[in-house]
Amino acid sequence: MSMNDIITPPGASPLGDNHYNNPRQASTDLYYPNNMGRFFFVAMEELLGKNGLNAVMNLAGLSRFINNYPPNNLEKKFSFANYAAINQAIEDFYGVRGSKGLLLRAGKVSLARALTEYTAIAGVGNLGMRLMPQNIKVKIALGVVARTFSTISDQVSKVSDNEQGYIYENETCSMCWHRSVSSPCCHVAVGVLTEVLHWATGKNFRVTEMACMGMGGPSCRFVIDKTPIE
Ligand SMILES: [Zn+2]
Repeated sequence: MSMNDIITPPGASPLGDNHYNNPRQASTDLYYPNNMGRFFFVAMEELLGKNGLNAVMNLAGLSRFINNYPPNNLEKKFSFANYAAINQAIEDFYGVRGSKGLLLRAGKVSLARALTEYTAIAGVGNLGMRLMPQNIKVKIALGVVARTFSTISDQVSKVSDNEQGYIYENETCSMCWHRSVSSPCCHVAVGVLTEVLHWATGKNFRVTEMACMGMGGPSCRFVIDKTPIE
């Protein structure tokens, strides 16, 4: 198996292709599995308390999910529109700055919850990562995340790297789905990527969203520094 096999998820554009379009982001319905919605709600409840989350759900027009989280299964029934509505409501409630920190933490907590389940699906447990050099661990971890989303959900992600850093890209994205924002808003993904890299390497890597489809970008593009912060 070559590195390209490891880090190119099914459905993504080939590595190095910077000129794709993403008409998929304009489609009317895209979905996550139910449990991705569930993990996010559970994480938000942990961060905001039940009343805080209920208020956000009401604001997002998602009161039907109050005390009624999506079931813990892989049926693709939790829509990107729902996910974007919650992200928007959190931004409306806590402001652009306040919501950023919250959503980052929600991404980290969600990933921690999901890790056992999704790594089993992706087969990462068999890769013997503990003995590998750090840069390989980073590539494999990012590739597993991209491949997992691309396989079990409608989020199409791909991984590459250049002199700037490792590049993680969403060609379809739930967080900015049909939103129009003035600064990159896909903070949950930043939290997920930060946490998965910490899990894989024991180090903290800086993850920065450099382009966002909510701002008209061709993809949501996250750059990961090659050298960890600590
Ligand atoms: Zn996005």
